[in-house]
Amino acid sequence: MPDSNEQKRLEALLSYEILDTPDEEEYANVVALAASILGVPDGYVTLLDKDRQWIKAALNKEHRGNSPLELSFCRHMIETHEPLVVEDASIHNIFKDYANVTGTPYIRFYAGVPLEAPEGGVLGALCVSDSQPRTITANQLQALRILAKQVQSQLELRRTTIQLQKALTDATEARKARDLFFASVSHDIRTPAAAIVGASQILNREKMPDAAHKLVEGIESHGKVLTLLLNNLLDLAKMDAGKFELVESAFDLAGLIREVAEGQAPIARSKGVDLVSEYDPNLSDNYLGDPLRIRQILGNLVSNAVKFTSKGTIRLTAKKGECGVLLSVFDTGIGIPPHRISSILNEFEQVDSSTQEKYGGTGLGLSIVSRLTALMHGTLSISSELGSGSVFSVELPLEPVQLSRLGTDLRTALVVDDNEINQLVLEALLLQLGVKADVAGTVSEANRFLAGNQYDLVLLDERLPDGRGSELARSIRSGGPSSNAVLLGISAAVEEQDQLLTKASGMNAHLPKPFTASQLETAVRSAKRS
Ligand code: ADP
Repeated sequence: MPDSNEQKRLEALLSYEILDTPDEEEYANVVALAASILGVPDGYVTLLDKDRQWIKAALNKEHRGNSPLELSFCRHMIETHEPLVVEDASIHNIFKDYANVTGTPYIRFYAGVPLEAPEGGVLGALCVSDSQPRTITANQLQALRILAKQVQSQLELRRTTIQLQKALTDATEARKARDLFFASVSHDIRTPAAAIVGASQILNREKMPDAAHKLVEGIESHGKVLTLLLNNLLDLAKMDAGKFELVESAFDLAGLIREVAEGQAPIARSKGVDLVSEYDPNLSDNYLGDPLRIRQILGNLVSNAVKFTSKGTIRLTAKKGECGVLLSVFDTGIGIPPHRISSILNEFEQVDSSTQEKYGGTGLGLSIVSRLTALMHGTLSISSELGSGSVFSVELPLEPVQLSRLGTDLRTALVVDDNEINQLVLEALLLQLGVKADVAGTVSEANRFLAGNQYDLVLLDERLPDGRGSELARSIRSGGPSSNAVLLGISAAVEEQDQLLTKASGMNAHLPKPFTASQLETAVRSAKRS
């Protein structure tokens, strides 16, 4: 059992991953230089393993590889950490009986300088030998020391490169694992979050005692905050992986502004803060853009305003900007020190370390806001006064559009979703629009409904127990009584939206869960136009 110093020495040696590696010119060159300065025929870089001496570089190539530890002159430096010079081994107390002294190659002269690991421990030596007895000058010994340092640097370079390569591999692996994780949890996390928000929206319309209403309202608004946080995390991962895309459609901006404000008003109210929205009548109601992402930007800004404000009023306003629509969130909260305004846009940055303790949060919201705004070719501006409040404004170059009213020709619908709560939510939302829906949980169940009925609208989730929504859409379009129906993808997982929206599927549009009746109405209306 080696003692602990020996153990450390061997660990250090192994960390260079150099034992049993092929010839390398850098080491061979140093050995050649050492032998030439000393004027001797042999030179080596030796490494001292547990029970062998391994020669990395030798002037005579046949000496490379393993040699017995008991014949190693170099191993004597493990203890001394000092250079070893033997002018004539045949008369030396220790070495005279060594087999390589009494027999081939009849070593007489030996000079070696230890190679040390920076953390301590002799790894091996740079040494020279001759079959003739010799002396060594101080200058020659100094040259040997300098060359040994050269070998040590070479070894360190090797170790650092190995460590960097490992870190790079680990980082790549970690990134791959993270992407895979986000892709697989995206659906599993968003679906229940969507179901919580949807179910509480429906529950809230039921008659129940005031106290119960308050609780349900609480579930709904906290559910929305949770959904926002999840979306931030998942989207940031997608942006980092370069897989993030905006999905453009016609949408009701006035309704969106109202909903964002109403969604967070209960939390604001519970803190004694008013939250109001103002929509400039000079704006159109409907615009072309990515409503999901605009909702995310405003949701983040409003939730920050609510979080950092304890009195006064928060205003979410929309008005004409210089080159589009100017959306602003005004608060009367704690404000931000001027020198921190630009850095809070970075991921995981908060004003200071006490922010996390007092207000929680992750420092992700604003970085998402700024990245989404840039993706939409918009601008984000922040002004703030410490102690008085802040204004976050996003100007987006949105095009106004005119939408016709939902037609009377839309009477029947089929919902294809395997999640029972989602089924209930969707059925109820459609009823609010005056549309009676059938509900299928699988592709085969949907096919049975489709065979015997004509539907004007089909809502399809992508991942179903026995197939894919996009494939079902393709088969609906290919013929049958519902081939002209409006087909809407309703997957919660962003990566499944692309699947659903492929041209081949024949889908009209995608409406990510959770959505409200008015969003569904807008989506159906714009799908019918297209
Ligand atoms: P989080 O809110 O999760 O901490 P954000 O990226 O949304 O992350 O915000 C980063 C930081 O910017 C916050 O922690 C806070 O210090 C500051 N901040 C954001 N919005 C406001 C606001 N309306 N008032 C005061 N400080 C704010």
